[in-house]
Amino acid sequence: MSAKQVDINKWEEIPCECGGMASKSTVNYKGYEVRGWICKKCKKEYIHPEDSLKISKLEVLKKNGIKVKVRTVGQSLVITLPKELVELYGLEKGELVELTPENLNKIKIGI
Ligand SMILES: [Zn+2]
Repeated sequence: MSAKQVDINKWEEIPCECGGMASKSTVNYKGYEVRGWICKKCKKEYIHPEDSLKISKLEVLKKNGIKVKVRTVGQSLVITLPKELVELYGLEKGELVELTPENLNKIKIGI
């Protein structure tokens, strides 16, 4: 017997506990927009398990913050993105991110 890999990202519909079918949709989970499914019949929402896990990790990181040191590389100043953030946002080497100054003590990094 071999284990079968299932890719739930391809599931357009999942069976709902009411007997109806839930369709792929964006759902609100703890104030975040995440992937999920909504039942057409009873409106029950199902959260994508990967996204619910990501939100849990995000909330911990958001609460505690991550301190990183500004270093120098040549004439530039560099900050590194810790592994936790790289994994959470699926960042890869070579990817472009956008830095937007928010105010005099906060810079937003958009991916
Ligand atoms: Zn239902």
